[in-house]
Amino acid sequence: MKEMPNILWLEEIKKEDIISVGGKGASLGEMTSIGLPVPKAFVVTAQAFRRFLIETGIEDTLFRRLERLDVEDNGALESVSRDVQDIVLSVDMPDHIREEVIDAYARMGANGTVVAVRSSATAEDLPEASFAGQQETFLNILGDVDLLDAVQRCWASLYGARAIYYRAKQGFDDRSVNIAVVVQELIRSEKSGVMFTSHPVTGEPLTIVEGSWGLGEAVVSGSVSPDNYVFDLRSERVVDRLVAEKEIMIVPEGEHGTKVVELSAQQRTAPVLSDAEVARLAMLGKIAEDHYSVPQDIEWAIVGDDVFILQSRPITTIRRPEIPRPGSESAGQPKGPLGVVLLEGQGASPGIASGRVVIIRDVRDTSTIRDGDILVTKMTNPDMVPAMRRVKAIVTDEGGMTCHAAIVSRELGTPAVVGTKKATKLLRDGQVITVDGEKGTIYEGAVEAPAAAAPAAAPAAAAPAPMITGTLVKVNVSLPEAAKRAAATGADGVGLLRIEHLILGLAKTPGWYVEHGAEEEFIGELYGGIKTVLDAFPGKPVWVRTLDAPTDEFRNMQGGEEEPIEHNPMLGWRGIRRDLRSPEQFRMQIEAFKRLWAAGYSNLGVMFPLVNHPDEFIQARAMMKGWGVDVENVTLGVMVEVPSSAILIEDFIKAGIRFASFGTNDLIQYTLAIDRNNEHVADMYEPEHPAVLRLIDYAIKACREHGVECSICGQAGSDPDMVAWLVGHGITSVSANIDAVPRIREAVARKERQILLDAARRNA
Ligand code: PEP
Ligand code: MG
Repeated sequence: MKEMPNILWLEEIKKEDIISVGGKGASLGEMTSIGLPVPKAFVVTAQAFRRFLIETGIEDTLFRRLERLDVEDNGALESVSRDVQDIVLSVDMPDHIREEVIDAYARMGANGTVVAVRSSATAEDLPEASFAGQQETFLNILGDVDLLDAVQRCWASLYGARAIYYRAKQGFDDRSVNIAVVVQELIRSEKSGVMFTSHPVTGEPLTIVEGSWGLGEAVVSGSVSPDNYVFDLRSERVVDRLVAEKEIMIVPEGEHGTKVVELSAQQRTAPVLSDAEVARLAMLGKIAEDHYSVPQDIEWAIVGDDVFILQSRPITTIRRPEIPRPGSESAGQPKGPLGVVLLEGQGASPGIASGRVVIIRDVRDTSTIRDGDILVTKMTNPDMVPAMRRVKAIVTDEGGMTCHAAIVSRELGTPAVVGTKKATKLLRDGQVITVDGEKGTIYEGAVEAPAAAAPAAAPAAAAPAPMITGTLVKVNVSLPEAAKRAAATGADGVGLLRIEHLILGLAKTPGWYVEHGAEEEFIGELYGGIKTVLDAFPGKPVWVRTLDAPTDEFRNMQGGEEEPIEHNPMLGWRGIRRDLRSPEQFRMQIEAFKRLWAAGYSNLGVMFPLVNHPDEFIQARAMMKGWGVDVENVTLGVMVEVPSSAILIEDFIKAGIRFASFGTNDLIQYTLAIDRNNEHVADMYEPEHPAVLRLIDYAIKACREHGVECSICGQAGSDPDMVAWLVGHGITSVSANIDAVPRIREAVARKERQILLDAARRNA
């Protein structure tokens, strides 16, 4: 470590230097080393920071202040953070470091270069750890004085309250965490955009380039429809070009920030890129793809004749579905009960509906949807929910019974077929089709449904007067707007309220609200949404689950760029493990619950998702207590979604859970290693697999023995056969989808009577 210089240029950085330059610095260095034109930058290394601490003599005082800190004490955390940052800012940077920074800056270009100054934190023992978003970034910095100030502020930001808390919770010793600072030329792009180095759906060697005028923010945030160019890497030609009408561009504003500018009539319809520029970008993309061995999602910018690559990360969406041979579908097509079958998938939400196909490849296209159309897309995402409300049916290429499209369609009462593999390829815009959401079949034309099969969204209110059952029959809710329909089923409460659908609908990540000091807005949204559901179920239990969205679902939202890129988001940073490590995000949720409890909603229970060890429950409860929740007198429970939590159920009970609920959607995938959203293995996804049943049986027995309520809220709770089995094995309540509540209640009643009858006969 002693040998490491204070300054490293990107060209000098090697992979092993991550410990000195942090993740951000290392990634820029790697892109540079493979010949990608990355904007000029140097890194003020972690060692420079360390020398600064030692040579100014502040090191000991600083770490001693941090050592005694109880990070759970908010007041103390804030005050120590302020003190330590003041210490870092109050001393002068040693002359030799200052001179080296100024010297490097001068070498960037004559007359001062406008730069971005970004923190890149790094841990000695775990250099790969991500501290993304915890430290500061300063844009539009010009001149020696401002640059030195920005570097020192980046250093100080290592001791922001949030960063200290995060490290403490992650188990990092403050002494072992360092900070490097990237000083990079700020690119005032004339044109910019993104590209996928291979087709993002099929994986074909087609580079898709999207571009617009000005800064890349316009394309990334979706505020402009970019031009779209397709470059075939085999023929090395642009094979498709769609020049969009671009209304605005985003440009830097003065010293800070950006502004939106209206485009001239000429620029609006002019193509952003020439064929030569598309080819150049595609070639750079190929270099990145070859180097990383996986297709890349790349941000690029162009100024004059210079092309820059700003970021490169793997595309996670490629599924390689079968590509239908053109013209091969119509001959000898199979016939179904309603006519010619075009496609089949999984029936995810019951009902039959006909309409005009609208293929949506991007949420920005949803404006073309008219009421009563049929939405056909690869997979829906939270931004599409407003469009999903307007359509008569939904068809997707991907997904299984528990994917986003399936869950939301069921709540909206809209027929849906998911996992067709090729609907977006096979169907054409404007084509009229009929969707059978029960059977999972798509028919050609508008065909008459047999009277009994229609209508699609038979209102649950039409259910007969509820039978009384000993086993409570509850309902699952994700969208507050579905609360009334859910309550009209006569359900005995809500066994699962998934708040992530409410949050994902806000279009900004929880992290964004924290970053922008807009916590109150987030808490208000959550409070309002949950209250709507509580009001629909007065006096009945409503179990609200804390946030459980995989990181890829946040990606398209504002703030989504801060989400880590995960190789396997289903096994990644989601569920309670995310909240425990993002206390600010957890606290906002708890604050909303706290206010609801204070407002008299004592029927609100809180359920933690994806727990795999009782310590997670204990820690979550302790944090709630720290934030002023009377944890002894509120209902807290866990989802059993991971085999470990079923196996350790007794320890969870000892830790004090009031209830456990089987999340079979996940429990099945984690027990059998079958991706629940992968249409290619959907037929192997087996809810009644003996291993799954044995885990459930084991956990039910333990809960019964200790008088802890035991329930189910996964999709298997909407299957009458499974529910009969669960009742036979002693489950205390079940929770089903809205459409399934009447048949589940019947299945429960039938099974209970059978048990009573059997007992009576035995005793007779
Ligand atoms: C489950 O895993 O069964 C569950 C209900 O949670 P989700 O479907 O939201 O993952
Ligand atoms: Mg789950």
